[in-house]
Amino acid sequence: MANSGAKGDEASLTTPAREVGWRWEHTYAQLPSWLHVGVAPTPVGAPKWVILNQVLARELGLAEDALAGGVGMASLVGNRLPAGAAPLAQAYAGHQFGHLTTLGDGRAILLGEHVTARGERFDIQLKGAGPTPFSRRGDGRATLVSMLREYVMSEAMHSLGIPTTRSLAVVATGEEIWRGQPRPGGVLTRVAASHLRVGTFVGAAAGPDEAGLKALIDYTLWRHYPEHRGAANPALALFAAVVARQASLLAKWMLVGFVHGVMNTDNMALSGETIDYGPCAFLDHYDPATVFSSIDRHGRYAFGQQPRIAQWNLARLAEALLPRLHAEEPVGIALANEAIQKFTVIFQTQWLAGMRRKLGLFNEELEDGILVEDLLAWMQTTKADFTNTFAKLARSAGEEVGASSPDEGWRRWEARWRARLGRQVESAGAAWALRCAHCPAFIPRNHLVEAALAAAEVGEMRDLERLLDVVVAPYDHSRVAPEYRAPAPDGGAGYQTFCGT
Ligand code: AMP
Ligand code: MG
Repeated sequence: MANSGAKGDEASLTTPAREVGWRWEHTYAQLPSWLHVGVAPTPVGAPKWVILNQVLARELGLAEDALAGGVGMASLVGNRLPAGAAPLAQAYAGHQFGHLTTLGDGRAILLGEHVTARGERFDIQLKGAGPTPFSRRGDGRATLVSMLREYVMSEAMHSLGIPTTRSLAVVATGEEIWRGQPRPGGVLTRVAASHLRVGTFVGAAAGPDEAGLKALIDYTLWRHYPEHRGAANPALALFAAVVARQASLLAKWMLVGFVHGVMNTDNMALSGETIDYGPCAFLDHYDPATVFSSIDRHGRYAFGQQPRIAQWNLARLAEALLPRLHAEEPVGIALANEAIQKFTVIFQTQWLAGMRRKLGLFNEELEDGILVEDLLAWMQTTKADFTNTFAKLARSAGEEVGASSPDEGWRRWEARWRARLGRQVESAGAAWALRCAHCPAFIPRNHLVEAALAAAEVGEMRDLERLLDVVVAPYDHSRVAPEYRAPAPDGGAGYQTFCGT
């Protein structure tokens, strides 16, 4: 297995369990009973270690050697519950491609909240751990490849400095599941600030009583926005805080070219973390109309649509909160409208601030927005690689990148940028360092992810391990690894992703 010296052998199952160091609490289970259902993972026949995130295990205060053993593996595949875990599936609703549906964890089981010695609280969830009362017609399972995909993408996002759920481990179930053809199954251990979703509130708003909605508001404030707990209007304070965090998150996605792919309201976390990695992917060349997901036929979740869709989802959150926003509905609606309008301001400000950093600009000038838009327009026309164009600018010291380029548009833009750099007091060295810290040299390139996952599915983990090694240090511009920087040979044309796997 990768990233550890795990011993997945059966013999170690019989040796006494060393302490992993879980410190369980179960505050979510204290919420009204219609928000969750107790359900245990379904054991699997022949589990096998695939990958353990030792760095994250240490961050969580867990003993990675104990976790890496047979008992640890059995606990992370759902065969043997860690002492103190109290498994449940969460109920929620969601708008899937705009249409309201009753959902719930159909293939994910929360073991509980692990509270570190520093007092940080994390949901520990097994994804792909078997059916729950919310499985509908699904089998409660996930393919090994889709869980490894979430592992790579979420760890890359974290390393890029973007709030996200994390991935602690993937264990192969040793069983095949049917996805049009037999595919090996896998269980991912997801670590999240929480799994409270916009959809949790959408579901609660349709719940049996308003007390449940109130409890959920108080709980979310306690868990993610403690600074607003004493607010005169808790529902409004929560809404405004969620709007701000989502605007900030979306700015970060747009700055690295991340396409989530399935921004349904059940896939948006109130914590402000990126959640539910399905058909997500990074842009190759810059085009706001980019869609990777095979089921997103009308481009609802296209790259450039994402900020607008986030606002649409937040409007659904406001509707769910409405009874608690104000006793008089029109006043509540007005309050929500006022709060949601801040999204655009926060998003625009943070996005432009992020773009300035990518271009090495410390101060602000009125025309910076135009400078950035012109660069993006040039990229779109010339089908330039989004990541590499910025990386090239980042690394250029004093010389003109495009001096020998036949592209007149680029040369003109670069001259404007150089002149702009000259109008700040910071040194060229400081501007260079700023750019390098905000323009990734490495992203998980789609063709490399697919090739590594295909190899992993047949038990060959080397490519995936190397890819991970590169993408967890995305700003290391000194690394010589040209094959990880190069765009897809065909420019990524026709690349498609699939969800629900
Ligand atoms: P997603 O598109 O992954 O966010 O999933 C949407 C909903 O479908 C969630 O409620 C999932 O729990 C559920 N779901 C997805 N795949 C399965 C499966 N294989 N078995 C049961 N439920 C599933
Ligand atoms: Mg989901």
